[in-house]
Amino acid sequence: MTAEPTVAVIGAGVIGLAVAWRLAAAGHAVTVFDPNPARGGASWVAGGMLAPVTEAWPGDEAVLELGEESLRRWPAFAAELSAAGADPGLSRAGTIVAAFDRADAEQLEIHAGYLRELGREASFVTGRELRRAEAGLAGAVRGGLLVPGDLAVDNRRLLNALVGAARRHGAEFVREEVVELAPGSVHTAGAVHRADAVVLAAGAWSAGLAPELAGAVRPLKGEILRLRARRTTLPPPHRTVRAVVEGRPVYLVPRQDGELVLGATQYEAGFDTTVTARGVRELLEGAERIFPAIAEYELTETAAGLRAASADNLPYLGELADGLFAATGHHRNGLLLAPVTADAVLAWLAGAPPPPGVAAAHPSRVRREERV
Ligand SMILES: Cc1cc2nc3c(=O)[nH]c(=O)nc-3n(C[C@H](O)[C@H](O)[C@H](O)COP(=O)(O)OP(=O)(O)OC[C@H]3O[C@@H](n4cnc5c(N)ncnc54)[C@H](O)[C@@H]3O)c2cc1C
Repeated sequence: MTAEPTVAVIGAGVIGLAVAWRLAAAGHAVTVFDPNPARGGASWVAGGMLAPVTEAWPGDEAVLELGEESLRRWPAFAAELSAAGADPGLSRAGTIVAAFDRADAEQLEIHAGYLRELGREASFVTGRELRRAEAGLAGAVRGGLLVPGDLAVDNRRLLNALVGAARRHGAEFVREEVVELAPGSVHTAGAVHRADAVVLAAGAWSAGLAPELAGAVRPLKGEILRLRARRTTLPPPHRTVRAVVEGRPVYLVPRQDGELVLGATQYEAGFDTTVTARGVRELLEGAERIFPAIAEYELTETAAGLRAASADNLPYLGELADGLFAATGHHRNGLLLAPVTADAVLAWLAGAPPPPGVAAAHPSRVRREERV
């Protein structure tokens, strides 16, 4: 018997799994509920960028602060998983943000200035210098930002590593959907499970289980592709490459095993996860403009996932009701924010102060902000 509170975690995406691992390692008896652990949500399809700096824009300072806090925790988080025998495929190669025309370049110079004001490393370099770093970049790329501090992770290796690490520390998995939640109890179709604390980490589906979040967390669809270089083609870029092509953001994230992830569309479509022909076409057209060799790559997978969007891009982290905690609404940054979220849950249960930046994400702001 453990003296620590027993915990039920609802959802086994990156957030629920990171929470389950950390809590189980700290001595809590943890039960994770999910009909499709690791593969049921956005985490399985995601790109893998851990990039608070290149996602940051003026006005998003609270998001950036939380993201930077989590980014600092990522190397140790990944090293602990690796030490336990499951390498999550962390890449430290950084990010390039490419500009095609004068307007793009001006935007990026402003962005670089903003990042330097925040004390971040970011330099604007010419197209030739970028191509020296990444030979496959299109000749039309005029210049761009080099952001050395950004990390990336292989989302699927990460999820498998987290499942293994949580299990090794004794976390149990119940492959059932939760139909109702209350402080101290979790209801599945056939049973009521008791727990001292309940952590809601059901991503885009969270509002359906917590009336406090109704209208505050909504699904935001994203389509994404996976490709592989062939013997006759140029290899993928070494680092993440991002650009805005005809107003649409496109990114390429290389994996250590040679896979190249190409993302992502973003639009409102409720809970629909159909991959559309238009989504695939837009992504491929955008990617070819940045990295032409991709046209000859093998297209190995198309997928769509649902981000759990919030009105202000911050997640909802904190107690919703006595013993019922929200760890959801991570929007475009759930992989990035997994370490800081898991550490926050650990701190709440220990009665300790949460990591810096977490307080701004408290769900009590739902009552204040305009519902989305
Ligand atoms: C195309 C795309 C690209 C992205 N790229 C990035 C990126 O590069 N970097 C980044 O940081 N983030 C990225 N994101 C965002 C990131 O994927 C999410 O923020 C993150 O995966 C959220 O994790 P989660 O665990 O909260 O939710 P999810 O991964 O969605 O998991 C939720 C889980 O809850 C389970 N569930 C739902 N309802 C119930 C229920 N009633 N009972 C039990 N279980 C339930 C589901 O089965 C699912 O497994 C991307 C998202 C998309 C869609």
